[in-house]
Amino acid sequence: MVGRLNCSVCKKNAVFLSPLLCKEHFIYYFEKKVEGTIKKFGLINKKERAVVAVSGGKDSMSLLYVLNKKGYNVTALAIDEGIADYREETLETMKKFCTKNGVPYRVVSFKKEFGKTLDEIMILHKERPCSVCGVFRRYLLNKYSKGFDVLATGHNMDDEAQAILMNLIKTNISLFNRLGPVSGKMKSKKFTRRVKPFYFCSEKEIMVYSFLNNLNTGFNECPNVEFAFRLRIRDILNQISTKKPEIKRKIIDWFLKNKEEKDNSLHEEDVSECDTCGEASAKGICSACAFMKKINK
Ligand code: SF4
Repeated sequence: MVGRLNCSVCKKNAVFLSPLLCKEHFIYYFEKKVEGTIKKFGLINKKERAVVAVSGGKDSMSLLYVLNKKGYNVTALAIDEGIADYREETLETMKKFCTKNGVPYRVVSFKKEFGKTLDEIMILHKERPCSVCGVFRRYLLNKYSKGFDVLATGHNMDDEAQAILMNLIKTNISLFNRLGPVSGKMKSKKFTRRVKPFYFCSEKEIMVYSFLNNLNTGFNECPNVEFAFRLRIRDILNQISTKKPEIKRKIIDWFLKNKEEKDNSLHEEDVSECDTCGEASAKGICSACAFMKKINK
């Protein structure tokens, strides 16, 4: 909170520094930005059924809140990976919000789907937690978003700038398909279109928005985040941002410009069905089933 500085619009006390805005004008600015992104990239319309991937954290809860407030037809979908002392609390936040606001929700768990929680898998195997978590989460989100028109996620500008850099460093150019306000442009019954209405919102803006709207998400982080490569990239980018505040925006603008010029979108013929589970897969067996095989050995 800024305190003594005044809003650049109405001269009330400012709650946000850049741009300098009071509570009322910050909320207006933030929601306009989100609606602008939705409109510019044709992410969702109000007639479509949108499922929102919700973790109970500030990003996904703010997304559920703003889409619900603006009249979109939303359902929350949460994945319980089974991470002790972390996930229970965030799921509780999500359930309370949905019950209070009449938003339908569904929770699906690693334990029920794969027979083990993420914690149990980590005791038995030496995989990086985020690698296993990412593959299984994506699998479940795709599986349980079927029947909806669109899957909205709370990825923000910071997440995207980090992902672009990570993929460049690892030379995972094929993963660029997952980036951008719409992941891939493929129309397929095997995949639900994924959209990111917070694409141009910074983590700081979302944090302030969730606080001003009393979303009570807390600020606890997954205990596995310390093992994530992303954490190192996040720290580097945050450090550079102190001297060059526009760096994250510049990275995503550079990415979008190049994505437009060289469209790497998947095509229907690139996607077949997994030999084991029948879900979408680019090869014979999907990544989730391949992991399951390894884990059950
Ligand atoms: Fe999963 Fe890693 Fe995120 Fe934790 S930090 S929720 S393990 S991806």
